[in-house]
Amino acid sequence: MEQCACVERELDKVLQKFLTYGQHCEQSLGELLHYVGQLRAELAGAALQGTPLSATLSLMMSQCCRKIKDTVQKLASDHKDIHSSVSRVGKAIDRNFDSEICGIVSDAVWDAREQQQQILQMAIVEHLYQQGMLSVAEELCQESTLNVDLDFKQPFLELNRILEALHEQDLGPALEWAVSHRQRLLELNSSLEFKLHRLHFIRLLAGGPEKQLEALSYARHFQPFARLHQREIQVMMGSLVYLRLGLEKSPYCHLLDNSHWAEICETFTRDACSLLGLSVESPLSVSFASGCVALPVLMNIKAVVDQRQCTGVWSHKDELPIEIELGMKCWYHSVFACPILRQQTSDSNPPIKLICGHVISRDALNKLINGGKLKCPYCPMEQNPADGKRIIF
Ligand SMILES: [Zn+2]
Repeated sequence: MEQCACVERELDKVLQKFLTYGQHCEQSLGELLHYVGQLRAELAGAALQGTPLSATLSLMMSQCCRKIKDTVQKLASDHKDIHSSVSRVGKAIDRNFDSEICGIVSDAVWDAREQQQQILQMAIVEHLYQQGMLSVAEELCQESTLNVDLDFKQPFLELNRILEALHEQDLGPALEWAVSHRQRLLELNSSLEFKLHRLHFIRLLAGGPEKQLEALSYARHFQPFARLHQREIQVMMGSLVYLRLGLEKSPYCHLLDNSHWAEICETFTRDACSLLGLSVESPLSVSFASGCVALPVLMNIKAVVDQRQCTGVWSHKDELPIEIELGMKCWYHSVFACPILRQQTSDSNPPIKLICGHVISRDALNKLINGGKLKCPYCPMEQNPADGKRIIF
């Protein structure tokens, strides 16, 4: 963090310089324009009278030319001075961050370069779609001749259309979507539809006493949610009492809080993503964030490995030399490590449940077979190895 702050300080200096330069530039050019304009008017005046160019005017003209030259030169040299500050930022980055990170990436990662590149491009495109930067994503698809079919794009397009409307405080598209996906949302335990209706109701309340009737009639939308959200509905009904007085001065003023809008965007993104089978954060941003956490640890390990010259510690292409804690946010599914071989199970070496209930990996099971029989390493129950069942986490 200290390193980031260090670079940020240099960056602030440059930005400040740019700002001052911009203002100075604007002012000097403005003055110059004014001066030239005045001179031009005088020249035009003289031309109208048909008099030859007076000595004063000719002197003024040469003065003006000199002034223009001086000002432009001064601005150019000031601009040059900023370059040194910009390059200081570059130096600060070099000084504070390790640039050499290639060492911790296995060379084999880029073996099938073309294919890898396509995977990376696809990840970037998906990220851009997810961020709502549709035109940038399209541009990248075209430039990289990536073929993304409509089925892939469609959910992102729809999501973004609705989110954009929500940002504009337009509940219509989101409500329409929630109603048409009601059943599946309920299966997800989602309260999205209720929250959208509630927000619409609150907006009516904010309209004051003249919206009272409309609000009351809108309240029928809460009926399907009466059991699950009883308390919240009671609060909203209670707030009607204060409509005449003004909700903002009542104990219900929290209903008008703007944070509800941010919350609804979050709820919609989360629930719609899980319904459409998309991750809330794009795989690219998750990988990037994980990489930022893992990189310092891996670089330390690499340094130790190099220093002690213990080759072969880190040779597996798809395996890290140590476990790296990425935090709860990155827990997606359970993993099972075989208690016998102390290895994480995989598709080729899946976990097997023995009839006694103990679980070991298939490789361990194969190793433990003795004369067609298997003795559980935990409870020593003897059993037929074929009775073990594969389990899926
Ligand atoms: Zn057992």
